Amino acid sequence: MKYLLDHYGFFQAWLLTGTLFYLRYLLAAGLTFLVFYQFLPGKFMHRKIQQRLPKGKRIFEEIKHSLYTAFIFTAIFLGLIYLQKLGYTRLYMDLSEHSTAYFILTCIALIFIHDTYFYWAHRLMHHPKFFAIHKEHHRSRNPTPWTSFDFHPVEAILEIAFVPVLVFFIPLHPASLFFLSFWLLVWNIVGHLGYEIFPKNQLDHPILKWLNTSTHHNLHHQRANYNFGLYFNFWDHIMGTNDPCYREVYESVTRGKQAKNEQRINLPLKKTSKHCLDREGI
Ligand SMILES: [Zn+2]
Ligand SMILES: [Zn+2]
Repeated sequence: MKYLLDHYGFFQAWLLTGTLFYLRYLLAAGLTFLVFYQFLPGKFMHRKIQQRLPKGKRIFEEIKHSLYTAFIFTAIFLGLIYLQKLGYTRLYMDLSEHSTAYFILTCIALIFIHDTYFYWAHRLMHHPKFFAIHKEHHRSRNPTPWTSFDFHPVEAILEIAFVPVLVFFIPLHPASLFFLSFWLLVWNIVGHLGYEIFPKNQLDHPILKWLNTSTHHNLHHQRANYNFGLYFNFWDHIMGTNDPCYREVYESVTRGKQAKNEQRINLPLKKTSKHCLDREGI
């Protein structure tokens, strides 16, 4: 990115990086969608969290909003590189300035910092006063990989607002931010996949149970008052915001073919119901 700013104007560099970022999203979400929804849906259908299939019109809206997100994210990243050139941030461009161990540590720390930031920013956006900016993302009650970056522009800014604050305090190499953006894309696609890919005993495993699953975030899209976490389950666990139906629905989905034979109920959960099998039609 520094190279780009050395050779192109800010606007040209933004156009180029925004386009590349958007193409990366199209490629990752598109390939995943093709595999799970077009080529091999029969193979995975027993792991489909909601048995309905998404509507084409909604997917078009998601792809459109993701374009805004790509250009907002890259504008912020480029802005930080520009500020670094002016000497205002603690970004470092030469990897040898700090040890490899430090670089790896910052990559891992970024994931945990982002997870905490996301949980609280997400809860704030669910406050009735702020929900308008998060509403776009919740239009998809049956998410697909295309939902991953479907944000209102203000939400897109909020999503990574912690990064510009961090770079003034902690020495970070841009590659660690690139790593975070890659991790975010992969995890968002997993969370919005619409299919459960984790093993049946995930919620009873002493370590794996702390990783959020596709079902966890899918339930958040079905009824928005639970499951605010992104990568990990720590904050939902501490704050008591895990959906009380999480285990029951997860076990139903991961029973797979057996559950299919039992004609697993396939409509979204009622928003207000405490009964996990109490569903509503759309
Ligand atoms: Zn979502
Ligand atoms: Zn939400």
